Amino acid sequence: MFNVLITGASRGIGAAAARLFAREGWDVAVNFNSSRREAEKLARELTALGVRALPIRADVSDPSQAEELVRTAETALGGLDAVVCNAGIALRQQLLTDTTAEQWQDLMSVDLDGMFYTLKAAIPGLVRRQRGAIVTVSSMWGVTGGSCEVPYSAAKAGVIGLTKALAKELGPSHIRVNCVAPGVVGTDMNARLSSGDLSALEEETPLGRIGTPEEIAQAILFLASDRASFVTGQVLQVDGGMVI
Ligand code: NAP
Repeated sequence: MFNVLITGASRGIGAAAARLFAREGWDVAVNFNSSRREAEKLARELTALGVRALPIRADVSDPSQAEELVRTAETALGGLDAVVCNAGIALRQQLLTDTTAEQWQDLMSVDLDGMFYTLKAAIPGLVRRQRGAIVTVSSMWGVTGGSCEVPYSAAKAGVIGLTKALAKELGPSHIRVNCVAPGVVGTDMNARLSSGDLSALEEETPLGRIGTPEEIAQAILFLASDRASFVTGQVLQVDGGMVI
């Protein structure tokens, strides 16, 4: 059977992906940073499904912790079949001119640098095995740009550039690299939005509602699995039609 390392798997989209992969029989390395209790509870839940599930604490914005995360997952699971780079944070909505250099750096360090550190550590193992799949998590704002979300849009556009370039670099090693760009999804990340903001976003979405973490997880699983065996360098927008 297959295994996967999912960053930011303690809550939200990452946790939904961990559950879905486990239901399909995948062993899962459940990365968390601050939510230890949630990650350990989730790992117990996955183990009960009959797969191996390993909670691993690491702040992916720290290069040495990201490397240690990958080494621990590889050793425990016996090499990685798939890596899902999902860990991310968002700032509160504000003008670029009100954004401090520190806020900009904090966001970039998790949403973009963390992906670089994780993948830099994971790629040699995938190349040695001459197989594997990488799924990155961007956002519709990375595709289209969001007002008052400039740092987040910049990081998530960077994720798309990283995905496309890396797909070309790793294709000859039979490693696929794809991206999921979610629209508005019901997770803690959107707890900061007022109910008025949420209704406005729902109204703007052709399907008339926000998405669920499970709907994003389905796209992640598809791209990580052999069902997408001839798909690489793509951005799958799972956003209810918000960006067409
Ligand atoms: P969430 O519910 O806030 O969960 C974020 C996850 O990322 C948590 O598991 C958190 O772990 C982890 N994380 C944060 N900083 C980390 C770090 N430094 N190192 C390791 N893990 C870290 O967010 P979500 O909505 O599920 O978002 C998941 C991904 O989807 C993000 O990349 C986000 O940008 C993207 N996305 C979300 C939406 C949306 O509407 N929700 C839309 C588009 C894209 P701990 O709690 O353990 O710290």
